[in-house]
Amino acid sequence: MDRKVKVVPCSGIGKVYGLMAREAVLEAVFDLCPEKSETVCLGYIVTGDKEVKERIEGFDCITVDGCPKMCAAKNVSMAGGIVIEEIKVLETVKEHKGKKFGSPTQLDADGEAVTSEIAAKIARKINEIN
Ligand code: SF4
Repeated sequence: MDRKVKVVPCSGIGKVYGLMAREAVLEAVFDLCPEKSETVCLGYIVTGDKEVKERIEGFDCITVDGCPKMCAAKNVSMAGGIVIEEIKVLETVKEHKGKKFGSPTQLDADGEAVTSEIAAKIARKINEIN
């Protein structure tokens, strides 16, 4: 059975922190840990897609959220995923006070650098779980 860690970002449309969550997950899953992790679309989880539910139910998951509403963490948990780590974009952002990160559709240089920092945190967690 495929035991890859499922890494799920919030959708975060319209917010730069949501874009950072999604980009950080893509970097972690496709560039840093392609053998050990995969991502799943939050929209399918929210709508109760049967195939996606089977992919996360009972599996180790990492969620990455762009704001305190924690949409990814809550919905993955409600769908039966075992949330090993809830990563909050804002925790990393707070360490970079005064920086601008870009727009909801385009990260600038600081946004990309901080997103890579979040991706590295995700990758460390994936490796710990494995
Ligand atoms: S956690 Fe916040 S930014 Fe992410 S989808 Fe939910 S409301 Fe939007």
